[in-house]
Amino acid sequence: MIEKQHIIDRFISYVTIDTESDPHSAATPSTEKQWDLANKLVDELKDIGLEDVTIDENAYIMATLPANVDHDVPVIGFISHFDTTPDFTGANVKPQIIDEYDGLDIILNPKDNMKLSPSYFEDLKQYKGQTLITTDGTTLLGADDKAGIAEIVTAMEYLVQHPEIKHGKIRVGFTPDEEIGRGAHKFDVEKFGADWAYTMDGSQIGELEYENFNAAGAVVTVKGKSVHPGYAKGKLVNSILIAQDYIDLLPKIEVPEQTEGREGFFHLHTIKGNVDKTQLEYIVRDHDKQRFENRKQLLIDLAKNLNEEHGKEIVTVEIKDQYYNMKEKVEPVMHIVAIAEKAMKAVGVEPIIKPIRGGTDGSQLSYMGLPCPNIFAGGHNFHGPYEYVPVESMIKAVEVIVKVAELTAAEKK
Ligand SMILES: [Zn+2]
Repeated sequence: MIEKQHIIDRFISYVTIDTESDPHSAATPSTEKQWDLANKLVDELKDIGLEDVTIDENAYIMATLPANVDHDVPVIGFISHFDTTPDFTGANVKPQIIDEYDGLDIILNPKDNMKLSPSYFEDLKQYKGQTLITTDGTTLLGADDKAGIAEIVTAMEYLVQHPEIKHGKIRVGFTPDEEIGRGAHKFDVEKFGADWAYTMDGSQIGELEYENFNAAGAVVTVKGKSVHPGYAKGKLVNSILIAQDYIDLLPKIEVPEQTEGREGFFHLHTIKGNVDKTQLEYIVRDHDKQRFENRKQLLIDLAKNLNEEHGKEIVTVEIKDQYYNMKEKVEPVMHIVAIAEKAMKAVGVEPIIKPIRGGTDGSQLSYMGLPCPNIFAGGHNFHGPYEYVPVESMIKAVEVIVKVAELTAAEKK
């Protein structure tokens, strides 16, 4: 039903526009160049026949596909981000199209003998015979999340052209700066006006996610006292060694490299220090709310214990919550996950439901009052030169969007 070349052309027209975001900029969007694609998307949404197409001063785009039924149907939304990660360059993307993938190594760049190999990236095997879009090995691809945008636009266009498919009002939202954690920050949930939404920002075909980590960042500061080592007895306090004690007191196996599934962790990612002052920077993660709280409390208690041992305020801890598990907001409205699951099955996609060991824009949006599970956009190996997307997965994502719209209207009849 969806013409392959059509979605390929659309996707390529997006990824060849550089939209890398920048965490060091305080502006929104964080880079001026994001406007290039944003403005193009506004024109395109108008061209395909959507209504109320708006872009605000921060480049957040919204649009409406009006209902074509008379009965009351919940308003649903589909959301993607148009920036790409600053982790790897997104300038001068030169996509390669591999038709009827033969299941063997794909040479990305003959000069560096850089290849996308199924012996390393095993997921490739399942796409034998399909059409893959890859990079030329020098940039990322930007399927994260321009695949999601191409899918949403294509699905809306399809619904406009097929009025026989009945649906309620549908809202479309495209955001800047997701990759630097700010995609949801200036998203006007009230203006969007949907009962719930889906981010089209997952990875491989079938992914459906509504659980993510509760997340916090912690900075542990140890104050020492620097004295000439020759005269130091009873006077010098070495903040590095006290920091070492602190590290040793945390559970050794609760670290990212030894945990999986819903297991949480403390991740020490930065140490800066000298005798006088040492700082430890941690991220704290747990799917379970109570265990998340317990972890943060443990960080505080350890500081307290060390301070008691040393008889003064040597260790201080500063903790900042970053995001929360959307499950808490989605569970009371689980039918929104059920509809997505049913839609996938209806178009022949096996749902893969698993907790995310990270966060999504949807988790922030869920806490802002817009419950927002995450659906696959189809790409693999995000944020680097090995990124690729099977066109067949993108087409399935379009079908899922169309089916979700249809099922939402049908269920409320
Ligand atoms: Zn993304």
